[in-house]
Amino acid sequence: MLCREVKRFVYFFLDGSLGEQKRQDFNSHLKLCPDCELRMRIQERLRNFMQSRFARLATTAPDRFKTRLTRSMRAFRTEWSR
Ligand SMILES: [Zn+2]
Repeated sequence: MLCREVKRFVYFFLDGSLGEQKRQDFNSHLKLCPDCELRMRIQERLRNFMQSRFARLATTAPDRFKTRLTRSMRAFRTEWSR
């Protein structure tokens, strides 16, 4: 596998939606290529971070968030109608 292919496949790899054969190619490339391995780790961390943020937002914040949004919309409208 080439570096540009690894770049293209990294999302699928992290999703687990890469085929078995491709995943093996991917893994053996990572062992040989520190650049791609690093890139993959960064993507993985970013992805985990985003997922945990979204999960928390979806379970704990919606009401507070909505209230804040409504309030700032109202403030915005007041600003504009002056
Ligand atoms: Zn590479």
